[in-house]
Amino acid sequence: MAYVGGVSEPGCVFCNALANDDDVASLIVHRGVHAFVILNLYPYNTGHLMVVPTEHVSDPAALSEAARSEVAELTASFCTGLRLVMGCDGLNIGVNLGSAAGAGIADHLHQHIVPRWSGDANFMPIVGDVKVLPELLPATYAKIRAEVARLKSSADSVRVVLLDPDRSGLFLEHDTFPRVRLTEGEPVWRATLTSLAPIAASCELLGWGGPPSTSFDPIQPPILTLSFTPREGGAPPYRLQSLDDANAALSEADRAVLAQAIGRRG
Ligand SMILES: [Zn+2]
Repeated sequence: MAYVGGVSEPGCVFCNALANDDDVASLIVHRGVHAFVILNLYPYNTGHLMVVPTEHVSDPAALSEAARSEVAELTASFCTGLRLVMGCDGLNIGVNLGSAAGAGIADHLHQHIVPRWSGDANFMPIVGDVKVLPELLPATYAKIRAEVARLKSSADSVRVVLLDPDRSGLFLEHDTFPRVRLTEGEPVWRATLTSLAPIAASCELLGWGGPPSTSFDPIQPPILTLSFTPREGGAPPYRLQSLDDANAALSEADRAVLAQAIGRRG
């Protein structure tokens, strides 16, 4: 519910997001040359993305040919990606030009991509303005960002920051974050949960664990942060360590990842 409060900010939300280095905070999942892809802070449905030209224009006619073409390319790629990651049955794609047509941010052109599931909105008219949010935005963001990172880095594994549910400890494997192998055709997040399930009493995706900026993706395989409780009898070879001990054991790069994961979780 923290995301449905309706916080307003000065200036253009898309231009502000672009100017911010922290793509996790801005919900940007991909930055291209003439366009970027961002999660909607007020989604109509889980996984609601927007493909936005970097240029602040209100009409497609004002866009360069290169920008128009990149918006079309990104729309096609992210439709394919959303089918895989979110497992949706269909998608709505659309642009509202001008506030008369329903554009919330009329000054900066943006194309919506909204995942749909059979029967997902059948009860919506009954509850009026209430929006259906079966998943928190940080988890949705992590799922999509992890898939983009996997594509860019050609990674065949994901690293997992496994936090104790009360965030006082961390599970390490040989003094580093455990690594989970990915399988072809299965989204990163599901491969991760499937792989951890046999040794977990509970396991929940909390968010993206990698660097904030999407620009680092080419050299970074995906990292996810999860809340993890092992089954009775432990989860060898993972070993629970206090955050202090973990910090002493980790490499400098991994310490930064841990700080990021803890920071994001408050
Ligand atoms: Zn703008």
